[in-house]
Amino acid sequence: MRLLAVGCSGSYPGPESPAACYVVSAQHEGRTWRVALDFGNGALGAMQRYFDPLDLDAVVLTHLHADHCLDLCGLKVMWCYSPVRRPTAPLDVWGPAGTSARMARAYGAAEPEPLEPCLNFRTIRAREPLSIGPFTITPVPVHHPVEAFGLRVEADGAVLAYTGDTDACDALTPLCTGADLVLADCAYIDGRDDARGVHMSGSRAAQAAVAAGGVKRLMLTHIPAWNDPEVCRSQAAEHWPGYVELAQPGHTYEL
Ligand SMILES: [Zn+2]
Ligand SMILES: [Zn+2]
Repeated sequence: MRLLAVGCSGSYPGPESPAACYVVSAQHEGRTWRVALDFGNGALGAMQRYFDPLDLDAVVLTHLHADHCLDLCGLKVMWCYSPVRRPTAPLDVWGPAGTSARMARAYGAAEPEPLEPCLNFRTIRAREPLSIGPFTITPVPVHHPVEAFGLRVEADGAVLAYTGDTDACDALTPLCTGADLVLADCAYIDGRDDARGVHMSGSRAAQAAVAAGGVKRLMLTHIPAWNDPEVCRSQAAEHWPGYVELAQPGHTYEL
């Protein structure tokens, strides 16, 4: 399984990165399958550097904050109206309850109907695995101000645990245990951001990965442009025994 960080900026796009969008890919039945995990602002433009977005097999949204879903409006336009190539089937878009209404509002439609010939909205439910080609994706409810899920993605015998947006919570243990890579929200800086129930800091992300057990790699993401990423890394390194990685836009990681 491969992980492409299309965008990894936290909360809003940064000068060098779109907001949250990660694409997992794996071979299955003689072709490459691709699933986008989140589709934040800026993602659709950058994605075209790496592959044709019309080749996506599905999108899975962790939650409905703007920095995780808004570029679906542009993808809908591509999917419906491309004069170059017209997909023969709608794209499956998995998300929390209310995803179709949320995207209709973002698109400027009163109802989801104008989007539905192109985007097939489907509701994810806690701990009910999705089977998409070679991927098994298990949504795990996490701790954020709106309904939000972490995603445990399994393919090729590898496990990616993507926390989505969350503060530290018990659910991170089943999400992350034994993962080859934990891709962890690290929007907050210890000593600066006191709010709880929203995001993790480096220390909280690292402690969650340690507590889960068996995690091979820790990669911090969702770092807003106003943070110094090296501060996030150093705060995680105080608790993580290995090298703390920082997600980089445009980079592909082998799992
Ligand atoms: Zn976010
Ligand atoms: Zn959020």
